[in-house]
Amino acid sequence: MTAKTIDGKAFAAEVRAKVAEHVARLKEEHGITPGLAVVLVGEDPASQVYVRSKGKQTVEVGMASFEHKLPAETEEADLVALIDQLNADPEVHGILVQLPLPSHLNEDLVINRIDPAKDVDGFHISNVGRLATGQKAMVPCTPLGCLMLLREELGSLSGRDAVVIGRSNIVGKPMAQLLLGDSCTVTIAHSRTKDLAEVVRRADIVVAAVGRPEMVPGDWLKPGATVIDVGINRVPGDKKPRLVGDVEFASAREVAGAITPVPGGVGPMTIACLLANTITACCRANGLIEPEGLTA
Ligand code: NAD
Repeated sequence: MTAKTIDGKAFAAEVRAKVAEHVARLKEEHGITPGLAVVLVGEDPASQVYVRSKGKQTVEVGMASFEHKLPAETEEADLVALIDQLNADPEVHGILVQLPLPSHLNEDLVINRIDPAKDVDGFHISNVGRLATGQKAMVPCTPLGCLMLLREELGSLSGRDAVVIGRSNIVGKPMAQLLLGDSCTVTIAHSRTKDLAEVVRRADIVVAAVGRPEMVPGDWLKPGATVIDVGINRVPGDKKPRLVGDVEFASAREVAGAITPVPGGVGPMTIACLLANTITACCRANGLIEPEGLTA
């Protein structure tokens, strides 16, 4: 059996279309334009690419995009002052501070300065706690995207055995919380897990978020499992470097029931979910009903 390839690119386009539809409705019926502010400190080339892409997609769905580019040597007090200003700005519904920050800045302090209601990355300690306790939260974009793909593919996730490989605050831990929220039986595996192959073999759902090229081969998988590959790894190719996931796609697709490719799987969902979070934040701020299917 060859697994179905889950088309994250197409699904992300559907999410963006849904967001655009709600943006148009908010403008027409309430005179509100949702706005997303992105703060970039320094000149990290990868971060610059992400920020450009976020700004472009924000404008494409009809939202206002506010970009704040600060020099690498920016002092913490000045960054905090900017966040305070954005917190108070009624035209800004979502605030994202692009990580990593230069090493002289305290990331926790900066992130926790963002108004939790505008924290569209879902990294504020209050949103982390809300997610963990099953309260309405802003949910980190990449795991939210994975959850949307799983629900689309499988319908109800209730009672399924899920293994999340990786325990980062950005992907692994919130992913596990979301799966628990959907009533999966969740195992979190990590670098110290014993016999990872055996753990993975029990899973109906595997989410791999490690950052090690093709570390999960097909023979670790339970036949028919649904595999979500979050990893983005650059490896040498014939002419230029190519991208591969944490799962060995060729062998995994012979065993799995469905699998996300890299690229074109989880990747495109992340920015789509950032836009979804911004519209959710905007609706909550204005006491309006949130669009369905765009939150956890
Ligand atoms: P991270 O480095 O913060 O965490 C990696 C995790 O993997 C750790 O918890 C570690 O315990 C675990 N790990 C390391 N070696 C292991 C091993 N041999 N066996 C089992 N577990 C092991 O990484 P992250 O930020 O969570 O990102 C993970 C991957 O996902 C990276 O490739 C990253 O580029 C990618 N990513 C993709 C998106 C996207 O939009 N698609 C977003 C975020 C991260």
